[in-house]
Amino acid sequence: MRNGEVSYWWRALGGFPARRASLPGPAEADVCIVGGGYTGLWTAYYLAGLRPQARIVVLEAAFAGYGASGRNGGWVTSELPGSRAVYARGPRGAAGVRDLEAELRSTVNEVGRVCETESIDCDFIRGGRLSVATSPAQLARLRAGLAHQRAWGDGDDVYSFLSGDETRERINVAGALGGLYAPDSARIQPAALAAGLAAAVERRGVTIYEATPVTEILPVSGSAEAGGAGAVARTVFGDVRARSVLRCTEGFTAGLPGSRRALLPMNSSMVVTEPLPATAWKQIGWDGFETLSDEAHAYVYAQRTADGRIAIGGRGVPYRFGSAVDQLGVTQPSTIAALAGVLRRMFPAAGDVGLEHAWCGVLGVPRDWCASVTYDPPSGLGWAGGYTGHGVAAANLAGRTLADLVAGESSPLTSLPWVGHRSRAWEPEPARWTGVHGLYALYRLADRLEAPSADRGGQARVMLGEALGRAGDLVSGIPH
Ligand SMILES: Cc1cc2nc3c(=O)[nH]c(=O)nc-3n(C[C@H](O)[C@H](O)[C@H](O)COP(=O)(O)OP(=O)(O)OC[C@H]3O[C@@H](n4cnc5c(N)ncnc54)[C@H](O)[C@@H]3O)c2cc1C
Repeated sequence: MRNGEVSYWWRALGGFPARRASLPGPAEADVCIVGGGYTGLWTAYYLAGLRPQARIVVLEAAFAGYGASGRNGGWVTSELPGSRAVYARGPRGAAGVRDLEAELRSTVNEVGRVCETESIDCDFIRGGRLSVATSPAQLARLRAGLAHQRAWGDGDDVYSFLSGDETRERINVAGALGGLYAPDSARIQPAALAAGLAAAVERRGVTIYEATPVTEILPVSGSAEAGGAGAVARTVFGDVRARSVLRCTEGFTAGLPGSRRALLPMNSSMVVTEPLPATAWKQIGWDGFETLSDEAHAYVYAQRTADGRIAIGGRGVPYRFGSAVDQLGVTQPSTIAALAGVLRRMFPAAGDVGLEHAWCGVLGVPRDWCASVTYDPPSGLGWAGGYTGHGVAAANLAGRTLADLVAGESSPLTSLPWVGHRSRAWEPEPARWTGVHGLYALYRLADRLEAPSADRGGQARVMLGEALGRAGDLVSGIPH
């Protein structure tokens, strides 16, 4: 089995893409975007649409789609990247949260629309999202989650409850007791979206420089050299001076001076099977290509790929000491074994199918688990990210929003509650490492205690599991 090589998704496209040129030397631009993932590329795409004459450059440390955008689970999900309660503290209260959620739902279609317009072939299928409960405790949590959605005004068109039979009719997950179905979600091949989007951005006149790591972002407000205001992105090849410099580095942000504790690089790992035989697919179903997850505290996410495989991911080792990131996506054997175990439990029909490739990547988590899109016109500095694992659709909405903010266009997007949202900094080490590892150890223990079992004292054990899971959510602030 292969491990690393950034991701299976890139290998399926024939390996790493042909490398674009590095920055040739010091340069000037109107807008300089740091990071060539979905956030940077969508921002460039929409900004070039709004301001076709603007000189826009993207500086990318490796290649466009090297980060989470070329490694993710391929869920274009409308899930809120953050907590309703926290966003509702903003000036527009609950109404602002409802607007943000509505925008995220329509963003799923917007991603599909651009893929069609730009001929980006990324296996986009809007099959909805299914979360499955496989234990009574998970079912209780799923029902409580649905009651919470209803209290916020979400009807059947946003979330509907499925019985065990209805769930298995869609996807035959062993032991499924019930499910929650949300139509606003699509399945994609992530690297194909990143590659296609980078090409679309270039067609709009944007220059992408690859193998060009930015070592520092600095405001130069008031400097005559920079035309009175603006900022600098520093690289080994020279500085890029621009009116606006936008940091779009999500899980890698801690590598930039001054941002070490802004976003925690949370690790997520995936495995993909060999293609399943037709007999296995007949037993499993999954003809709607829904994106799939379970209701465990340390949950998994999965998709049926266009080439007939199951790709499944989960947290694994959640965080590396000192906000370190992986080397080319190599993940740990224990994580691969754990994901394989869940896969075989959920799909006995895939029991004999081998695993072909494993990899991992980092996503950005703010201390309050709430994403932000921020632009400060006087300094010309802006950033977006911190989508806490729900970044595929959110990066499109964030990119459109950042483009409006930089262009100075007031729009319904620029008053959404994540605009200008600030989270406090993460704790210094070793508290950061201890906290994150302690939290996931707690979640795994809670999941083990909640697992169905015929033991005496089972009920007390399940209650303890539920209590530990809730305690983890409360202490960490993870929204559910
Ligand atoms: C394994 C995994 C599974 C996931 N699954 C899902 C999912 O199914 N659905 C979902 O919604 N979200 C998912 N996510 C999260 C989602 O992929 C991310 O939130 C999203 O892709 C973030 O996009 P981005 O452009 O902000 O960051 P990235 O895609 O990480 O891009 C950042 C880019 O910046 C570059 N960079 C970093 N530092 C510098 C520097 N100093 N100078 C220049 N360039 C730099 C990096 O090389 C990288 O290309 C997953 C994430 C992972 C890791």
